[in-house]
Amino acid sequence: QTEFKENGSRKKNIVILGSGWGAISFLHKLDTTKYNVTIVSPRNYFLFTPLLPSVPSGTINIKSICDSVRTIARQTPGEVTYLEAIATDLDPTNKTVSIEHKSQRFNIGDAFTNDSEPIETTLHYDYLVYAVGATVNTFGIPGIYEHASFLKEANDATAVRQKLFNQIEASRLLPKDSEDRKRLLSFVVCGGGPTGVELAAEIKDYIFQDLSKFIPGIENEMSVTLIEAQHNVLSMFHPRLIEYTKDVFKQQGLNLQTDTMVKKIDDKNVYAAYRHPNGKTEDVVIPYGTLVWAGGNAQRELTKKLASKIVEQQTARRGLLVDEYLRLDGGDQIYALGDCTFTQNPPTAQVAHQQGVFLAEHFNKQSKIEDLKYEIDSTTEESKLNKLTQRLKRLEKKDTPFEYIHQGALAYIGSERAVADLSWGDWSTVALGGTMTFFFWRSAYVTMLLGIRNKIFVVSDWLKVAIFGRDCSQE
Ligand code: FAD
Ligand code: NAD
Repeated sequence: QTEFKENGSRKKNIVILGSGWGAISFLHKLDTTKYNVTIVSPRNYFLFTPLLPSVPSGTINIKSICDSVRTIARQTPGEVTYLEAIATDLDPTNKTVSIEHKSQRFNIGDAFTNDSEPIETTLHYDYLVYAVGATVNTFGIPGIYEHASFLKEANDATAVRQKLFNQIEASRLLPKDSEDRKRLLSFVVCGGGPTGVELAAEIKDYIFQDLSKFIPGIENEMSVTLIEAQHNVLSMFHPRLIEYTKDVFKQQGLNLQTDTMVKKIDDKNVYAAYRHPNGKTEDVVIPYGTLVWAGGNAQRELTKKLASKIVEQQTARRGLLVDEYLRLDGGDQIYALGDCTFTQNPPTAQVAHQQGVFLAEHFNKQSKIEDLKYEIDSTTEESKLNKLTQRLKRLEKKDTPFEYIHQGALAYIGSERAVADLSWGDWSTVALGGTMTFFFWRSAYVTMLLGIRNKIFVVSDWLKVAIFGRDCSQE
């Protein structure tokens, strides 16, 4: 990386932590010729999470929704250094980040498997862009880490698929009337947010549309259960779409257990409390073969560590506190975005993406301001000086705060049907559900996918499934 800009002034160091929606949207829009940019993340690819629930069923190949960070970096106009490492600590006073590289496989819950000594170093930043996302919230429920799978990272999705196959194959050694066989063929998802709903719907499709052709009769033996603590699934959607989703689930034979709060999990059962309409609770036991926990987000250890070092963050329980320019409250030149923050906006890819774009535009403008100031300092000619000063004033005036524009929410609910809560500005919201919405859902995602390579891969995955069905072999 070159130390200086074209005009001779020193380039400032931006360190970006993360390679998810917030970080990559920021990198995409940043004029990387104006800064020394280093991106640090244990994940050397961007993961298009909206299609992750389609991976365990084999509708989408995991590689189709991953895009290499280095490829993305190469597409920016300047030089970007990518370091495959995890940030382990931050020193907001001295503006440093401690990072370490381990031989690793990125897993949920900040857990890394490593078999070699980590290599550590420290980076200095002028600006820190903190976009490490969130981890899964287990609410301290016993047994989740030991027995459940998750759906947060790429390898979570492939692990769910493997588990499903293993349980199906194991069940086939047992007699048809065996309780254990029934259990092994029971796929249970805990958490009726969009992650849980989409995954349950995809698995149900898979059983009915494809597995049933390879293992005749399995569709009558396998069950898919979705457990949700609240009265409704997809609580952020329009009530009409919630009812529509419930109807579709009923038609599909998907077992929806709302008002059911999971309390404990062991290697075979989920223990929960069902709340009757009269308010009384009853203990229920739900046996499972494959279990996926989709209970929502919690802050990463690093985020908690950072918050603990800053007085203004002491009340930050659900995420870092930032102002309307995404500046970390109490942080010197630290910006935070995406799921690691707590704002009035939901923790979604849409929000993280818009924040990333906003922040990049802010930095691009900031660089222009600094360039102008540098020129002003080295100019003596009166008329030029006036012009430059006017330009500087105009640029400085343009600083507008971040404003989230909600474009709506989409979710796949199975049997080629989706629900969509769409909004166009403040004046119109539309709640749609059905097959047309499904095609809209697909086209929206193809448009959103970052590169042409991913678009081609995803469309060809869908085509392959339409022509040949989903793959039923275990990788
Ligand atoms: P992430 O995208 O999670 O990225 C965090 C990055 O930080 C990762 O690269 C991670 O490797 C890295 N990291 C972690 N720890 C460290 C560390 N210590 N040091 C350095 N780097 C670190 N939202 C929607 O709007 N629409 C959808 O359809 C949708 N579908 C989803 C489906 C699923 C299955 C899931 C799990 C989420 C979905 N979301 C959706 C939510 C969306 O994915 C998140 O809101 C979004 O990813 C948040 O972006 P982020 O940049 O904050 O975090
Ligand atoms: P979520 O927070 O939206 O839903 C988690 C669900 O788990 C909640 O409904 C909660 O009531 C339930 N739950 C928690 N503890 C429970 C317990 N003990 N027993 C039973 N149920 C319990 O989480 P998510 O679905 O992972 O979504 C996370 C974020 O990502 C959200 O902001 C969501 O909007 C976004 N997302 C969006 C899409 C989409 O737009 N299609 C898809 C996936 C995720």
